Amino acid sequence: MTTVAAYAAPAAKAPLERTTIERRAVGEFDVLIDIKYAGICHSDIHQVREGWGEAIFPMVPGHEIAGVVSEVGSGVTKFKVGDRVGVGCMVDSCRTCENCLRGEEQYCLEGNVPTYNGIGKDGEPTYGGYSEKVVVDENFVVRIPDGLSLDVAAPLLCAGITTYSPLRHWNAGPGKKVAIVGLGGLGHMGVKLAHAMGAEVTVLSQSLRKKDDGLKLGADHYYATSDPKTFEELAGTFDLIVSTVSAPMDFGALLSLLKVDGALVNVGAPEEPISLNLFSVIGGRKTLAGSMIGGIAQTQEMLDFCAEHGIGAEIELIRADQINEAYERVLASDVRYRFVIDTATI
Ligand SMILES: [Zn+2]
Ligand SMILES: [Zn+2]
Repeated sequence: MTTVAAYAAPAAKAPLERTTIERRAVGEFDVLIDIKYAGICHSDIHQVREGWGEAIFPMVPGHEIAGVVSEVGSGVTKFKVGDRVGVGCMVDSCRTCENCLRGEEQYCLEGNVPTYNGIGKDGEPTYGGYSEKVVVDENFVVRIPDGLSLDVAAPLLCAGITTYSPLRHWNAGPGKKVAIVGLGGLGHMGVKLAHAMGAEVTVLSQSLRKKDDGLKLGADHYYATSDPKTFEELAGTFDLIVSTVSAPMDFGALLSLLKVDGALVNVGAPEEPISLNLFSVIGGRKTLAGSMIGGIAQTQEMLDFCAEHGIGAEIELIRADQINEAYERVLASDVRYRFVIDTATI
């Protein structure tokens, strides 16, 4: 066991504070990672505040981890000391169910082991990336290509793969009209990725406040959802809409913007159930779908794609003692576009 410094919430809704946690000894197939950067995801805040249900405390959030391998177990074949690596939202799964076998460990039938706020196979709670070091099985570690800086790569491990996976699954590419709803941490990655895939990209945001940013990030068009004319003008336009918003949305209105056979994919996770008139999917054979992160192989594919296209997250680097303030700013949508903790300041 190794004692490492970390930032943790001692109880639900409590501010995060500096503490220490124990990391397990490096096992045969484990790698020890010196964490350099950890992104702050909106879901960290949902979980610290128990917005998604009862959680495990103390909680060390953080599932956008970028760092460097500092030790490997005797059986590790994929990584060596000094490798630049990342860890995303899960650190284990059953590895034998049909979903794990086809590389979709995020949908493991026994439930994947989340990077924090979960219980590992050793029966101990998992602690995330707001810490100095983490021990992870090599099969749940990905390589960060040399072309990507670790600070802008960290948010790719959740925000990047969460948007990349549905864009790939629903075939975003040349000739496809794709809308990204919300221009926050997830949305700004969705715009960059869909643009790099060759799709025609529209941002649907509450207001036009971030329009200049959206166009710079790669959007071709930018509309305000607060303007009713948007819904008249864009009716029946899109092949694919990816909604990244975690607040309640008018899904019926968004569905009206799809072409026949179009899909509205939700990757944001509102805390409350929605109500929907099903005629909004019946007319036009439309799909209302969801998508959750991506498998380990696809996460590696996404990182390689980002390196090839020069894509990183737009970040605001903070010290660990600014985490609580950063949470408030995320809740106020006052971040362009991802806070990343410099873990040297923990
Ligand atoms: Zn996340
Ligand atoms: Zn499984």
